[in-house]
Amino acid sequence: MNRRNYNVSELRRLDVAHHLPAQSSYRLQQQMGGSRIITRAEGSTVWDAEGNAILDGMAGLWCVDIGYGRAELADVAREQMLELPYYNSFFRTATAPAVELAAKLASLHGGALQHIFFNTSGSESNDTVLRLVRYYWALKGQPERSIIISRHNAYHGSTVAGASLGGMSFMHVQGGLPIPGIEHIMQPYHFGDGFGEDPEEFALRAADALEERILAIGADKVAAFIGEPVQGAGGVIIPHRAYWQRIEAICRKYGVLIVSDEVICGFGRLGRWFGYQHFGFTPDIVSMAKGLSSGYLPISATAVSHEIVETLRATDDDFVHGYTYSGHPVAAAVALRNIEIMEREALVDRVADDAGPHFAEAIGALADHPLVGEVRTLGLIGAIELVAEKGTNRRHGKGGAAGPVVRDACIARGLMVRAIRDTIVMCPPFVITHEEIDRMAAIIRAALDEAVGTLA
Ligand code: PLP
Repeated sequence: MNRRNYNVSELRRLDVAHHLPAQSSYRLQQQMGGSRIITRAEGSTVWDAEGNAILDGMAGLWCVDIGYGRAELADVAREQMLELPYYNSFFRTATAPAVELAAKLASLHGGALQHIFFNTSGSESNDTVLRLVRYYWALKGQPERSIIISRHNAYHGSTVAGASLGGMSFMHVQGGLPIPGIEHIMQPYHFGDGFGEDPEEFALRAADALEERILAIGADKVAAFIGEPVQGAGGVIIPHRAYWQRIEAICRKYGVLIVSDEVICGFGRLGRWFGYQHFGFTPDIVSMAKGLSSGYLPISATAVSHEIVETLRATDDDFVHGYTYSGHPVAAAVALRNIEIMEREALVDRVADDAGPHFAEAIGALADHPLVGEVRTLGLIGAIELVAEKGTNRRHGKGGAAGPVVRDACIARGLMVRAIRDTIVMCPPFVITHEEIDRMAAIIRAALDEAVGTLA
């Protein structure tokens, strides 16, 4: 393959002049003289336009599960583009890849989740969820059941519905969110909100907040509860097992639908195909994106229970919702091949039995560092809490100062991680080697050592 030559300074100039990157400060973009420009990638490594190799501890944005550089996916996209590059799925139309992918996803879920609605992004999937659950309850003759309960610090996307369902207050400040009819309860963040408390008791207290809120609102007004099995963008918050069991029992008691947002957890991230399988609960609706295509093309899917679809089938009315790119045939063909690769290479088992345990050991060993308050991992996702005083959850200054220092020191040493305030998060590709995991841990330790001096 011929590599393009890039004129880095010109690209950065054009970036400032014309490009508004996502979730970015445009003042900082300008002060930096342009964004970091990534030009190519292979396996678990990306290269920037200056030629620096960066080990991608974030799998892009929690999505490139099968790793970069899979020619097979390019081939399948090309073939599908030549055969049928686009057709829509409006008004009872379908394409072969969309139907085949729906059947494949239904088989991965098994059980009652046998019906799939396609969208383009995780946010759009959660928009679908919002409209679908309200429509479902209206069809059931209970239109007043319209409130959706979520958690503080949840991330469900960036559209108006996605950001409203999400519980990040700094996202609500811009644009007058959340929209009405969405409520937020406490999150099961033991390190932050239950430090020193018995983990199981804390998990049950956090879950019981759902019952309290349902009773406060009135059960006949609550449509659904939405949660990520493990909160990703909130700081890789891994709840105690008891949490989801209790949430499920509460939802069943009051007839509230359970929506599992598997945009990060789905497709093997936690060592099972879906996060709900790891935690042992049964959702009524599941949002999927990211790992569905390993990020090679934008596609998302919303799995819906048989019970819900039976209700939708009780009328001739259309579900008046859908996107131009719902079930896009090229994206669907790529997603199908991505899943085939995961199965062929047994990548979900690799997360559970090989890379995941090695990651837990290597990253877990950082717990002895004086800056580290807690390390938690599950499968191939993990977090390191940075504290000012070992043995406490006290942060440096007002909080939020240490994370960026450690993150930048990691990036300078060739490792991409993210800082969510003072939590360093990691989410590497499933193909990451043991040597690369060890390198991740070594780089983070060196960055922590350096930060001790900076933060003192
Ligand atoms: N839901 C969860 C759990 C996510 O982590 C994300 C993105 O990170 C989204 C939804 C939104 O997905 P997208 O950015 O594809 O709209």
